[in-house]
Amino acid sequence: MQDQLRQSLRYGRVLPQAEVLGAWCCYPSVEMSFDEDTPDVDLSKIEDGLYLGNLSAAVDENTLKTYRISHVLTVESNQLPANVTSLPGMAFLYIEAFDVRGEDLLSHFQEAVDFIEDGQRKGSVLVHCYFGVSRSATLVTCFLMKKYGITLSKALKRVRSKRWCASPNAGFLAQLKLYQTMGQHLDTTNGQYRLYLLQAAATSLSRSIERKMDDRYSGIIQPEPHNFSPSQVAYKCRGCRCPLVGKTAVLPHCAGETPEWTDARWSGPLDGVKLCDQGIFTLPSQWMMETEKPIEGKLLCPRCRAKVGSYNWYAGCCCPCQAKISPAFYFIPSKLDKCM
Ligand SMILES: [Zn+2]
Ligand SMILES: [Zn+2]
Repeated sequence: MQDQLRQSLRYGRVLPQAEVLGAWCCYPSVEMSFDEDTPDVDLSKIEDGLYLGNLSAAVDENTLKTYRISHVLTVESNQLPANVTSLPGMAFLYIEAFDVRGEDLLSHFQEAVDFIEDGQRKGSVLVHCYFGVSRSATLVTCFLMKKYGITLSKALKRVRSKRWCASPNAGFLAQLKLYQTMGQHLDTTNGQYRLYLLQAAATSLSRSIERKMDDRYSGIIQPEPHNFSPSQVAYKCRGCRCPLVGKTAVLPHCAGETPEWTDARWSGPLDGVKLCDQGIFTLPSQWMMETEKPIEGKLLCPRCRAKVGSYNWYAGCCCPCQAKISPAFYFIPSKLDKCM
């Protein structure tokens, strides 16, 4: 098992068993237990002013000097030590991330691109994770896609031609693919990205001790529908006619199918897709968040206080069509009037 683990670590991979056990316990304990395996300095030049490497490269002052690194982008579960981040004249960006399938890098793509772009203009950038294989390779691939307007496959090929071991994990590859689908920018109106952000927000809530989601996901919280013009309202409360759901908040699904953010159908026009009409699921709106129960509870009409549905960030809800939706903001159809 130990050999398997060491081998796995060499190639920057988390063992399947570790993924099953839970993402967040893997790297810190591994790093502590296998100090003797700390890798040698290892970095590759991807293009002028851009290097991709491992943690040892980022903490070695001589390496930083030799390659004239002015900007360091760390995408890791731990920050660089203060003796490095206090080096004069250098800029650092830290993105906290584990190398696991469910980790969100996509919502960091724009800040990573901006940082690398700025670093390339002013000097040289080192993008690194622990091994320089998965997380950092993902951000460098996304940068090349954006800078040159090229496909994921071309960008990854370019990275691998300079660093053969570059290999984003399956979750990061799916995120890069969605980035390509959205035309190399983050489009919050894209159906796949909305599903993605909702899941990422739920993960963020589950990690937060205070049960607060990271501000990065606040974009999924929909504006108050009672300020909408009639043409923007999808559903009103049947009891008091208070507008409850805006058209842009509705999350469609197909009967009996859990909608997955990796499903490309949600990025396209849904004209030919047969949607379920038995249950109403939405993105969260501001009025739903104003509750003392952050994880699960009832949805009460903000005007007449009638129960109109329920929400559950972790366990989700089942639609009458048997589709499991998670996280779920579910409205009871008989409590609403459809305005569309
Ligand atoms: Zn009402
Ligand atoms: Zn359904």
